[in-house]
Amino acid sequence: MNLADSEEMAAHLLLRGYALTDNLDEADLALVNTCTVRDHAEHRALSFLGRLRQWKREKEGRHIIFAGCAAQRLGEKLKKTFPYLDLVSGAREIDHFASLLDNSGLFSAAQGGEAQPHGITGYVTIMRGCDFACTYCIVPSVRGPVHCLPSADILAQAAQKARSGCPEIMLLGQTVNAWKEDGKTFADLLNEVSALPGVQRVRFVSPHPAFITPQFLAAVENNPKIARHIHLPVQSGSTKVLREMKRGYTRETLLEKIDALKERGFALSTDLIVGFPTETEADFEETLSLVQRAGFSAAYCFKYSPRQGTPAAQMKLLPEKILEERLDILLNKVKGLAEAAYAAQVGKEKEVLMESPNKGRTSDNFWAQTQKSYTIGTVVRSRIASAEDTLLMTRD
Ligand code: SAH
Ligand code: SF4
Repeated sequence: MNLADSEEMAAHLLLRGYALTDNLDEADLALVNTCTVRDHAEHRALSFLGRLRQWKREKEGRHIIFAGCAAQRLGEKLKKTFPYLDLVSGAREIDHFASLLDNSGLFSAAQGGEAQPHGITGYVTIMRGCDFACTYCIVPSVRGPVHCLPSADILAQAAQKARSGCPEIMLLGQTVNAWKEDGKTFADLLNEVSALPGVQRVRFVSPHPAFITPQFLAAVENNPKIARHIHLPVQSGSTKVLREMKRGYTRETLLEKIDALKERGFALSTDLIVGFPTETEADFEETLSLVQRAGFSAAYCFKYSPRQGTPAAQMKLLPEKILEERLDILLNKVKGLAEAAYAAQVGKEKEVLMESPNKGRTSDNFWAQTQKSYTIGTVVRSRIASAEDTLLMTRD
């Protein structure tokens, strides 16, 4: 989602005469797009901003924009600590980013044309905000309640991205599958996007387990353009912890959904939190066993981080040592499962959507390296000869 927001903001800057560079020394403008979901993410953003003080001094006319969720949370008070900051643009202001640039008087006017996306994936935000209230999470207070974008706009944007060279469309939202419109479901939207000319594959992130329903499964299972991979954040495998997190599902209902997805050929990845304040050793064991049972092909694992203003921030923290130990054990487990998931692909025939001449991803989201070179954006059908850690080697 941050990547998509960065692209959207960058597009407005490209229209105002800027070009992208990976080299900060070369840059006249630094746009820092930030996350605040964990304290660590915010710290990194702020320490980077601190280092930009010297960068700005080094050359006349340099500017700094601080954007995203940390900018939203900290607001204008950032300018007290970082007086050299030119513009603060919170995550909720992204739709007004162009007028923010224009009103600042720092940039020239926009000049026509459409910014070209880079890479084969076209990101399309379909909803913003979140209506859940997970007790550890700062997102609802930073990003606000759910706002679904109209399907007409979403389809127009996806069609434009496909036209400009993105065979893969990724639909985005905090609880992306909560998207709805009068008479239209998220599954309808997926099917419509997949039918647009030039679209080979549709992905989406992050779905919430609450909206993985039999109706959803029935609507997507026969559409091969919908990627056979779902990133489904589960957070914990313990019903007790899930209840205290207010996730709205139990271990059992979660496993039913996971099984239903796997039966239909979907590979699964997830997000997990270790060391939620009430997590006991037994709860953690339940997470490990759920992870094993689900056979996730990848997982992002986080140490619990208390966020100001959230209900869980009132609870007593577990010792840091326990968090570190549990994270370590979980990461090891996840690594083993990922390697097993890759090894299980050997001998299967796969469709690889090429992201570079020799590398691409399968529909179920495994990275694959090809023997021959192919055109970026094309789909290559080949049998998997071998797997090395988390990379598949195709026969062709
Ligand atoms: N909307 C998505 C997740 C958005 S936040 C969902 O509900 O699935 C991305 C991930 O950050 C979460 O899935 C969670 O694993 C992690 N996260 C959120 N708040 C956290 C916190 N306070 N401490 C540690 N990890 C957190
Ligand atoms: Fe945060 Fe929960 Fe909303 Fe995800 S569903 S953004 S974890 S409150």
